[in-house]
Amino acid sequence: MEDFRVIVVLTLCAVAVCVESKYMIYDTGAGVVEGKLNVHLVAHTHDDVGWLKTVDQYYVGSNNSIQGACVQNVLDSTVQALLADKNRKFIYVEQAFFQRWWRDQSEATQAIVKRLVSSGQLEMINGGWCMHDEAAPHYIDMIDQTTYGHKFIKEQFNVTPKIGWQIDPFGHSAVQAYLLGAEVGFDSVFFGRIDYQDRAKRKGDKHLEVIWRGSKSLGSSAQIFAGAFPENYEPPPGNFYFEVNDDSPIVQDDINLFDYNVEERVNDFVAAALSQANITRTNHVMWTMGTDFKYQYAESWFRNMDKFIHYVNKDGRVNALYSTPSIYTDAKYAETNSWPLKENDYFPYASDINAYWTGYFTSRAALKGYVRMLSGYYLAARQLEVMKGRNKTGPTTDYLGDALGIAQHHDAVSGTSQQHVANDYAKRLSIGHKEAEVVVAESIACMVSPKPGCSSSAANFHECSLLNISYCPSTEADLSSGKKLVVVIYNSLGWKRSDVIRLPVVSENIAVFDSNGKQVESQLLPVVQESISLRNYYATAYAGKSPSSTPKYWLAFTASVPPLGFTTYVISSTEKPASNFVKEAFYKHTGTGKDDIEIGTGNLKLIYSGSEGKLSQYINSQSSIEASMKQSYAFMLDLMALRGSSCLRASGAYIFRPNGTYPIGSQEQNITVLKGTIYDEVHQKINSWIYQITRVYKNKEHAEVEFTVGPIPIDDGVGKEIVTQITTTMKSNKTFYSDSNGRDFIERIRDYRADWDLDVNQPIAGNYYPINLGIYLKDEKSELSILVDRSVGGSSIVDGQLELMLHRRLLYDDGKGVAEALNETVCVGSDCRGLAVQGKYYIRMDPLGEGAKWRRTYGQEIYSPLLLAFTEQDGNKATNFQMLKFSGMDSTYSLPDNVVLLTLQELEDGNVLLRLAHLYEIGEDKDLSVMTSVELKKLLAKRKIIKVSEMSLSANQGREEMEKKRLVWKVEGSKSDEPTVQRGGPVDPKKLVVELAPMEIRTFIVTVGKTISRRLVSSDLSLQLSGSN
Ligand SMILES: [Zn+2]
Repeated sequence: MEDFRVIVVLTLCAVAVCVESKYMIYDTGAGVVEGKLNVHLVAHTHDDVGWLKTVDQYYVGSNNSIQGACVQNVLDSTVQALLADKNRKFIYVEQAFFQRWWRDQSEATQAIVKRLVSSGQLEMINGGWCMHDEAAPHYIDMIDQTTYGHKFIKEQFNVTPKIGWQIDPFGHSAVQAYLLGAEVGFDSVFFGRIDYQDRAKRKGDKHLEVIWRGSKSLGSSAQIFAGAFPENYEPPPGNFYFEVNDDSPIVQDDINLFDYNVEERVNDFVAAALSQANITRTNHVMWTMGTDFKYQYAESWFRNMDKFIHYVNKDGRVNALYSTPSIYTDAKYAETNSWPLKENDYFPYASDINAYWTGYFTSRAALKGYVRMLSGYYLAARQLEVMKGRNKTGPTTDYLGDALGIAQHHDAVSGTSQQHVANDYAKRLSIGHKEAEVVVAESIACMVSPKPGCSSSAANFHECSLLNISYCPSTEADLSSGKKLVVVIYNSLGWKRSDVIRLPVVSENIAVFDSNGKQVESQLLPVVQESISLRNYYATAYAGKSPSSTPKYWLAFTASVPPLGFTTYVISSTEKPASNFVKEAFYKHTGTGKDDIEIGTGNLKLIYSGSEGKLSQYINSQSSIEASMKQSYAFMLDLMALRGSSCLRASGAYIFRPNGTYPIGSQEQNITVLKGTIYDEVHQKINSWIYQITRVYKNKEHAEVEFTVGPIPIDDGVGKEIVTQITTTMKSNKTFYSDSNGRDFIERIRDYRADWDLDVNQPIAGNYYPINLGIYLKDEKSELSILVDRSVGGSSIVDGQLELMLHRRLLYDDGKGVAEALNETVCVGSDCRGLAVQGKYYIRMDPLGEGAKWRRTYGQEIYSPLLLAFTEQDGNKATNFQMLKFSGMDSTYSLPDNVVLLTLQELEDGNVLLRLAHLYEIGEDKDLSVMTSVELKKLLAKRKIIKVSEMSLSANQGREEMEKKRLVWKVEGSKSDEPTVQRGGPVDPKKLVVELAPMEIRTFIVTVGKTISRRLVSSDLSLQLSGSN
């Protein structure tokens, strides 16, 4: 029967069509058809900005033994395929790649591509430098990298991307939805990965597509239509892959050849469409036609889609069309539906019962630290670039912006690339850093110079990027011959700020003088042997030769720095020690009865048990907090270690799959205490590979913990994940709070999800969340907060306790694609050791309701540490410096406590990009969660402001224009009496005062006049002439 029908078809066809017509024209022009199920075919490629290969290797198509992928081929062939049929459409995302391709093209090709973009055949979507990760990046980095890509698109094509396309990141953040979605003017955002339990429920409820309100403070004013795909970002089940080597049956419609299959393939298509329609609202479904690095021979995909559109529409059961996510979103919007509401975020992400993607929150902790350090540096360096004026021919901060943009990719800062690719990210960052250092040095030299203009550098400034491992050639100089060390300290925050500066030095015979020439209090602490060993190994690995000197002491003094400005300190030699010299006190447990040890000379005191040598109490006399507090380390054992290959899933770069928690360190420990006038230190050698220094500063009400973890031993054949735990008796009732990309805090409840009834199958890994700013918990009396210096994973696994994962070293791949174990090493010659990670976290307790001020203010200080630049000066000559203290703002002005300056950057056209952010959420703090304002005239006091234009967050369109285009979605069950969202009002062009409501970020392009003469500048500042003696 079957055979007979085929023969009939063949005969009919042979007579009617095929013989006469050699060239088949496919009707690919279908648009949306009302009343039918519309299948939107979205042709796309997903091009990771580095993963198994580096970004350049992916672009040029080298190193194909790892992965056959060449983005150049994708773009070359797609342009040809689009020209072949004007109905074909394609979307492109990653501008780091597109920009590489663009500069390779002839003017003629560029003109063609511009036409493809303006006709809508080629649509730039998402449009950042990369598709950033959503767990590990800080929101300032997300804004910067998106701005970088959007700027390129605007300049080349004069278009603004309309759609968010975060299809691959491993979980989705609230900040992505409201800030990098709604606030950049996107109509919708789409993504592939949500928790498997969540996805199952949403499919059943037809809740895959929602209105996502990511911000409590900005509510409906920053909501966005958000669609999770039914499976992933690939074509639907049913064999619809058409890369040259793919094994899906192509649509064979040539009757003269064997294996004609049009009917069969049309049936496959209709079946897949109806199946998707069953879980999707409205008559529109989207098919993501493509996946990683596809369309290297684009014609192969388009040829088959042409045929599908032609034959499926002839069949008539459903309507197939070439589409884009913009067309799809407009179609959804045109329906009069209302949509379910989604709040908070989509973390953590589990792809199956044993695969919680929460390990990558900590993977490559050193790279994460490096990215964060340079993120804060990039912010400061751009400010200094504005103050001096941007170099027309370089050096500039652009390369650092490019490298940081690439580093935000969802396999970069996430820690999920192969090792050689991680090295490539670090190399790019390092090159960008070096160039930005020149900009910083030039700018500082220019500002301190007595000569007008900035042509000659009066002083040669150096920075110390390895200060964290107590290596700084500038400060280790011998000053006994009369040379002086000048330290210029720059503060990129808009507030005056005092902080303790710590520098490694070689001699105790030194003193510190401020910009008035007055000696300031200083303190010397010995540099311990553990620090020296780490320093020597890592400085050698970094610089290629071992350090020539060895510092003996940490010199510490308190620097007070004006907002957006600098101050200068001078260190010179003295006859005898001028600093408070601290000797070690070694406390050794001697069993019960030993007196407790009290640390801290200010309001904050930490009490260590004399018998155990461990932290036991946290006391703040000012805020009347007196709490039991313990701190400990533990390791998680990889399940693979216990079960061997019978374990189906190991912990790896992505996945956290622990099997139990094992305490590290003995019951009783030796501690070393160093007590000074500026701060006290407690040294604890937890074991042979964990060293910890806890500092309590006289004038700060938090404890600073500096940890050095590693090399994590693996000679037992077992990978380990190292956590630290802060334990109190607080009754936190399963609840804790973690930040979203360093911005909003989100309530987390252990073993619970707001959107579905959670089957708890991973009690530790399933409760981990990404931490970028901090984590806290509270009870009816107090709050316990921890702030971090980089992105880490964290949780509260038992009430009253906070936990951070600090480092991981693993011996198996987790089967999620990276195909390497996360086993980082550092080599000096052939001596390779497991990577040690050094970092800091900060602990504070506050009375209930009073913790936010510290979390926000100090959190910003951690992000933007004081920038130190050093130069030497001959002791006999008068100083070359005219300006020893400077503020880029009006000298009487300071930003309000609830505002931070996110961006101050000179663009190529001389305009200034300015971004201001309110730091508090609604209800977060009784005093500071209020409307606030910034006076631009005082903020930019050194420039004449000619014009101020408010822009979208990524600065590619006017804010007003963006708001006019905003789609107004209906939310299911929403009440008409929802509270109106507070926003700052328009900026009066004369008064130039910017209002900011809680959590609001406002972006401006400021047209400025020339720098007001620096002589004028110096007259309104506390100018000191050669007065440092
Ligand atoms: Zn990807």
